[in-house]
This record gives sequence, structure tokens and C-alpha cells, in this order.
Amino acid sequence: MKVCVLPGDGIGPEIVGEAVRVLEALRGDGIRLEMETALLGGCAVDAAGDPYPEETRRLARAADAVLLGAVGGPRYDTLPREQRPERGLLGIRKDLGLFANLRPAVLYPELANASSLKPEVVVGLDILIVRELTGDIYFGEPRGIETRGGERVGINTMIYSESEIRRIARVSFEAARKRSRRLCSVDKMNVLECTQLWRDVVTDEAKNHPDVELSHMLVDNAAMQLVRNPKQFDVMVTGNMFGDILSDEASMLTGSIGMLPSASLDEKGKGLYEPIHGSAPDIAGQGVANPLATILSTAMMLRYTFGQEAAAARVEGAVKQVLRQGLRTADIFEAGMKKVGTREMGDAVIAALRAAN
Ligand code: NAD
Repeated sequence: MKVCVLPGDGIGPEIVGEAVRVLEALRGDGIRLEMETALLGGCAVDAAGDPYPEETRRLARAADAVLLGAVGGPRYDTLPREQRPERGLLGIRKDLGLFANLRPAVLYPELANASSLKPEVVVGLDILIVRELTGDIYFGEPRGIETRGGERVGINTMIYSESEIRRIARVSFEAARKRSRRLCSVDKMNVLECTQLWRDVVTDEAKNHPDVELSHMLVDNAAMQLVRNPKQFDVMVTGNMFGDILSDEASMLTGSIGMLPSASLDEKGKGLYEPIHGSAPDIAGQGVANPLATILSTAMMLRYTFGQEAAAARVEGAVKQVLRQGLRTADIFEAGMKKVGTREMGDAVIAALRAAN
């Protein structure tokens, strides 16, 4: 079980450090991961002039899973586009064929006040959004800005092939099988032919998963329903652009960006696991970042790449335990709780893991 560890920039090294310690603490349970660290993002630009250097490419390709902190920072915002840290992220996703992005939005009862919605609307919220990650209007050709009839026009192309839709549909049906067997596919078939094909193919794929209840929803309604009654959803699947927007919306329902993990998978179960937040340059180096989203990303890694459901559940259980104990990093702090730093939070998760043994 080989893991390529990419701490990245900003708070990346701090939060990944804690996640690696959690993985090491699982050794006693027979989870033996071989971990190698490499550079991605701004730190790679500094060291090698390339946000996704050859050495990182080699290690990432050879690994079964990749654990990433976050990339980027204001220092890199003025670099030419091909040297920006985000290019490293897009590069590794494309290079590893990571087409399925899984983003859970879970609201822990202890953090119900962090949501901007009323507690009764969100307590118990547990949604999984599956976003297609390598197609759609973000990659479609032709694209660009050109002059037509004496003025500039901007062009992008929304395009999905049947095989691209079918493979993301399969991942979603499988994910729904591991949960409460309900899948909602989101499209805009009333206006966009591309998404009519999406609906047709997802509907056809449902025949292979008769135990999962499939429903469809138009994206505008889905955006509304997510804030009106989010608990009606279990697994949602959608294309790259709609998924970009809906998954951010869903994560905000929980109000705690430092708590949410994600997985991006290829066709064989290899995955890149990372928190959904960025590199938080405003708090980097201060030891105050919340490491829980990254620690929860390791649970997703154990579940989706290594098939270690029991270990994944133990990590998630340990996170719940530290929240119950009242430990909070600054981003989720409330009066009456105990404020802790990054390291102390990592220590507490490891102690909870050991105590549960
Ligand atoms: P951000 O997610 O880094 O930060 C937004 C706010 O949330 C900040 O106030 C930050 O302090 C806070 N925050 C984020 N993670 C936290 C954590 N674990 N603990 C405590 N607080 C946390 O978003 P941003 O400020 O828009 O972007 C900063 C940089 O990150 C930019 O360069 C951006 O391009 C990059 N970025 C990278 C990724 C990625 O690597 N996947 C994703 C988003 C943004």
C-alpha cells in the first residue's frame, strides 16, 4: 500500500503532518502504508520551476493513493499561468485520470451552530456529492476568445461522451450502494442537449443497479433544494461545472470548511485525497489550522482505495470523539469549548484511536 504524500503550500505541511501521524498510528492494526513525500504546487515551483515536477509525477503514478494538503498562495498569483500552483493540481488530476470527485458534506451534531441554516434543517446532514472531474465545459473544445462581427466573443463547449457519463454514473451507483441506496442525478436537460444525453445514459445505467433508487433533478431546483431541505438527498451525481457549484454550496451548509474531506478516483480505485479547503495563507505557519478535514481524507483513502472499511470508520469515530470531548481549533471554536492548535488536535485524534482499540 503505497501513498504519495504531497504537503503542498501554506497550511498544507501542518495539516498533512497530522494526517500522516494518524496513518502511522494505525500500524498496530496491520495497516502498513509506505509513504513517500514529494512536491506539488508553489513549493515545487520554488524548488524545480514546475508546479508538477517529473519526480512527483513518477511517485504519484507509482503510488496506490495520493494524500494532498493544499496548493497556492498570493506569492504565486502573478506567475505566468503555466507556473501557477493550480496548474499542478489540474495536472496531477488529469495525469492520473481522476475523473470522479467524491465530496461528502457531513454536519457533526456538535457543530450544528456553525451552519448558516437553522439547526433543524441541517442536524444529521450527510450527503455525498459525486462530481465528474475531467470533462464538461471546463475541458471542451473549441474554447477561447475571438472576434466575430467586429466584437469579441467568448466560447466554451459543453461536451460529454456516453462513456464518460456511464463511468461516473457507475461510481455513483456503487457509492449509493454503500450508503442508503438513493441517487439523485442533476442535469439541465430542459435546455442543454449535452445533459439530455447525461440523463439518458444515467437512466440506462440504472438497469444495472436495480437496488438503487434513482431520481433526477434540474440543477436550478437542486441548488434551491440544497438550502431548503438538504436532508432529502443521499448521493448526488452531476457534471463538472454543476458539481463545482453544488459541492461548494453543500459544503457551506456545514459551515466548517476545515472539516470536509474529498476523494478523486480513477477507474481502478486509485485516488487523490485532500481537504476541500485551500492553503489558508492567512494562518499558515501558526499551528492553528484545523487538521480534521485532512485526517478525514485519510479515512476516505482507507475506504475507497484500500478497502479498509473498519480502519476508515475508526478514524471517523476518533474525530467524532474529539469533537464530543469539546476540542476545537479556532475555525470551529465556540464559547465553553477547549481551543486547541493543529498538533494538539492531531494528538487528541491519535489518543482517541488508541483508546478505541
Ligand atoms: P482557503 O480555503 O485557503 O481559505 C478560506 C478561509 O478558510 C481562510 O480564512 C482560511 O484561514 C480558512 N481555512 C481554510 N482551511 C482551514 C483550516 N484547515 N483550518 C482553519 N481555517 C481554515 O481559500 P482561499 O483563501 O480562497 O485560498 C487560499 C489559497 O488556496 C489560494 O492560493 C487558492 O488558489 C488556494 N486553493 C487551493 C485549493 C487546493 O489546493 N485544492 C483549493 C482552494 C483554494
